[in-house]
Amino acid sequence: MGSAQTGRRNKAVVIGGGIAGLLTARVLSEHYGKVVVLDRDVAPAAGVRRRGVPQSFHLHQMLPRGELILEQLFPGFLDDVLRLGAFPLTDAVLNWTNRYGKMLMPGPEQGAFYSRGLVEQVIRRRVESIANVHFDYARTVVDLCATDDRARITGVRSRHSSRPESGTTMSADLVVDASGRSSKLPQWLSVLGYATPPDEVVTSGIGYSTRYYRVPDAKKNALALLVIENDYTAGIPAGGVLKRIEGDVWSVCLSGIGGLYPPTDAAGFDLGLTQLISPAIAEALRDAEPLTTPRGFRIPICVRRHYEQMEQWPAGLLVLGDALSTVDPIYGQGMTVAAIQAENIATCLREQDGPDFERDALRRLQRASYPAWWLSALEDLRWPGVEHTGGRPFRHVGLLHKYFDLAVERMTRQFTGPGAVPDPTFLSYFAMTGLLVAPGVVVNGTMLDALLDGASTEAAQAIREEIRAHGEPISTVLADAVPAGG
Ligand SMILES: Cc1cc2nc3c(=O)[nH]c(=O)nc-3n(C[C@H](O)[C@H](O)[C@H](O)COP(=O)(O)OP(=O)(O)OC[C@H]3O[C@@H](n4cnc5c(N)ncnc54)[C@H](O)[C@@H]3O)c2cc1C
Repeated sequence: MGSAQTGRRNKAVVIGGGIAGLLTARVLSEHYGKVVVLDRDVAPAAGVRRRGVPQSFHLHQMLPRGELILEQLFPGFLDDVLRLGAFPLTDAVLNWTNRYGKMLMPGPEQGAFYSRGLVEQVIRRRVESIANVHFDYARTVVDLCATDDRARITGVRSRHSSRPESGTTMSADLVVDASGRSSKLPQWLSVLGYATPPDEVVTSGIGYSTRYYRVPDAKKNALALLVIENDYTAGIPAGGVLKRIEGDVWSVCLSGIGGLYPPTDAAGFDLGLTQLISPAIAEALRDAEPLTTPRGFRIPICVRRHYEQMEQWPAGLLVLGDALSTVDPIYGQGMTVAAIQAENIATCLREQDGPDFERDALRRLQRASYPAWWLSALEDLRWPGVEHTGGRPFRHVGLLHKYFDLAVERMTRQFTGPGAVPDPTFLSYFAMTGLLVAPGVVVNGTMLDALLDGASTEAAQAIREEIRAHGEPISTVLADAVPAGG
């Protein structure tokens, strides 16, 4: 198998019309004559939770970086979601409890809360309106087509989702796998004779249980967000989130980690809400009418596929979104990672048309999504039984845990006192978890000095001890701890 020229840009096929697939179709439409999105689901009705995306029942939050990219790709995106009933955040107070206290934060000047169904609907409508993008629903892709030497992918084989005998072949100059966490790409590549490297895995053992409630009249303008974090220091794996979405509805989720899954029956769900580190969600729901029963979702492992390490990678093929890596959903990163990756594909298409286009793009997608993977894995590694295998080992995990403890503590305290004026230095932690800035902006010697300045708490003591234990300057150790380029 040799390398093949990238060549023509007549037609691209995207496997999967979820968030990653839709955003990819949007960026490909500027570079390919025709883009076809194939999805195994039937054409979705407005805002519905789709069968092909079982996680769409569960609470989804778009991070600030994701919202920025969506606004760039689809100017007026925020207006669109608001028009369809998303909850505006202009006057909202965001209520966030962790082991250090309760933060009451003003909502952003512009912003909205909405469900996964709504955000997908808005993106899909925009992509459907692009003249050279076509959708083919109820088509399940079953295989890749390749040249005789298998150096180039030339299309896909698919069948009608409810008529397996109706197989067809569609040719393409580029095939993009955006088929999500159930991607069959490792098997498809194996059939073509490509050996894939072992996956990088974090055994997070995450569980979700989600239930919907009608917002009581008395609280219609009040409560937009309640976040109650788990507490690893007290061994409490359960966290909870209540989030206002479109249609005067609260989406409420209980989460668990380390294989400790939340209950999915109504009585257990109610009890679980009372066992969080704050009773705030249980109290808010006291007079709220449930609209559904709770529904569960389990994610035993988070996976990062290292296709970029393969000795050979076929021309005409890319992969992104959950098909490339999955993170712990509690940090709300997946859709934003897909948006960042789509943005990177756009850059590659503008800058690179040489023989190594696909492999370069793949490396770039991996680099762009690494901060999210690193942050998600690091947090999950606080829990007993959670292990990281494969891939690049993480450096100085214990130090980073203490560093983030101190950052979160300082950030929390400045929002707890009445009339407190937040120090923008500490807000950069939120900018990092919102994927707006790279980890290196937050994890460095200068920031550590600022975090330690005047701090005499347990979290500050813990990191001072850790610093003493290191023989070399702590700024060097921190530089070594953050992802390369971060
Ligand atoms: C419980 C849970 C909660 C989450 N919460 C958040 C959150 O708060 N914030 C966030 O950003 N992310 C969250 N995520 C992650 C998020 O859902 C995904 O990362 C994001 O939607 C990107 O997914 P995707 O487009 O790659 O895949 P999907 O959204 O899963 O889309 C894949 C698409 O491919 C189609 N498909 C699959 N196989 C085939 C095939 N063979 N042929 C044709 N079509 C196919 C499917 O029908 C589907 O439409 C959560 C995930 C889970 C599990």
